[in-house]
Amino acid sequence: MYIDGAWRPAAGTGAIAVVDPADERVIAQVPAGTAEDVDAAVRAARAALPGWAATPPAERAAHLTALRDALAARQDEIAATVTAELGAPPPVAHAVHAGMPVVVAGSFAELAATYPFEERTGNSTVLLEPVGVVGAITPWNYPLHQVVAKVSPALAAGCTVVLKPAEDTPLTARLFAEAAHEAELPAGVFNLVTGTGPVAGQTLAEHGGVDMVSFTGSTAVGRRIGALAGAAVKRVALELGGKSANVILPGADLARAVGVGVANVMANSGQTCSAWTRMLVHRDSYDEAVALAAEAVAKYVPGERVGPLVNAGQRERVRGYIERGIAEGARLVAGGPDAPLPAGYYVRPTVFADVTPEMAIAQEEIFGPVVSILRYEDEEDALRIANGTVYGLAGAVWAADDETAVAFARRMDTGQVDINGGRFNPLAPFGGYKQSGVGRELGAHGLAEYLQTKSLQF
Ligand code: NAP
Ligand code: MG
Repeated sequence: MYIDGAWRPAAGTGAIAVVDPADERVIAQVPAGTAEDVDAAVRAARAALPGWAATPPAERAAHLTALRDALAARQDEIAATVTAELGAPPPVAHAVHAGMPVVVAGSFAELAATYPFEERTGNSTVLLEPVGVVGAITPWNYPLHQVVAKVSPALAAGCTVVLKPAEDTPLTARLFAEAAHEAELPAGVFNLVTGTGPVAGQTLAEHGGVDMVSFTGSTAVGRRIGALAGAAVKRVALELGGKSANVILPGADLARAVGVGVANVMANSGQTCSAWTRMLVHRDSYDEAVALAAEAVAKYVPGERVGPLVNAGQRERVRGYIERGIAEGARLVAGGPDAPLPAGYYVRPTVFADVTPEMAIAQEEIFGPVVSILRYEDEEDALRIANGTVYGLAGAVWAADDETAVAFARRMDTGQVDINGGRFNPLAPFGGYKQSGVGRELGAHGLAEYLQTKSLQF
């Protein structure tokens, strides 16, 4: 455990085995934190809070810049670790899993220095103060990004943090703690407790010394954490699942929209909360789009361009959805439920056509390399289908011009929409409408999550 500025043994003797999902071998053991470890970490974070909250933003920014530099210096080690414990192919691990967090960490170093922590309105000065001690609970799908997207803005805001990372990917979180140590954060400002969700995670979420819980993961666990936070009247941020729509309007560049759409789902083996897992195509272009998707998905060879799923449970869950899609009458045009390789938690990249909006594969988050292609009659029908799930995290619109696509995007119930292939922006707020969550991550909006306001009238 990394608590109060130093590595120390866990209070208990339990351990978590870390498995390489590409070959199913145990590669490491990490301690399973108990309530005692969580309590020690929260106490350290509380003790460090007044000093860190009072540290001038420019000084906090200098530590965050050092953290960014420490992550950049470890990029190769981080990439290798993500490949080992998540199964991401090496080029993806390097560019996305190790590279993107450096950019995000850098953006919060800059924001810490420039964010207006004081405003004037009428005869008031409004102070934007840190919420306090943050309990951060993260998933395994982007092991470092999810950590950086919570810890960096919390520290920029002047909060102190206890992190409980996913049990499947604790090694990357340990590298993050080493980087935080190198950044010479004052003792207790950042703390790491590895452990399981029901023990370490739940204790952290329930702890009276935690002022805010920031959670990313499943809707089922998010709902419980939201209920706990509500009962304790504490701040909560929830970044949950999605079933995002890739809407291809008539007049769009069909080949590009389908190709980018398939790539978006295959990235990270489909284990992306914002993945465009529903492709919506006008009936006149439908058959052509299905053929293009089948062609595009053939490039994703398991064990080469596409890695395994994170664990056996996720593999079984995804195969179950593929079987369900077949049983519900969708047409399998690529992939299927059988294992593509003799070892490792691989699933065949799969494309379903003739998917109708009420099918489970059109409604539920599968979290695997599975694309569902739906047919629409006109724009109103497309909008009804796009907005017709409990989720609203991300999406895409393709049209003959940006204006047409933007007009459609304005009517979508979702937190982020990429217009005609718009690039990922690390400063754009990211988060969900409806059951995709509460709150926003990244950029100035992400920093604001960790602030509370005080008004002074004079
Ligand atoms: P999960 O159980 O929600 O895990 C997310 C984090 O919450 C992990 O650190 C987990 O610890 C912890 N946790 C679990 N139970 C908890 C509890 N009772 N109290 C506090 N913390 C708890 O998600 P998962 O099981 O890894 O994945 C299941 C599904 O969630 C996926 O198939 C996918 O649909 C969705 N998911 C979404 C995202 C996203 O980015 N929105 C990310 C991952 C998964 P452990 O690691 O020990 O379980
Ligand atoms: Mg779990």
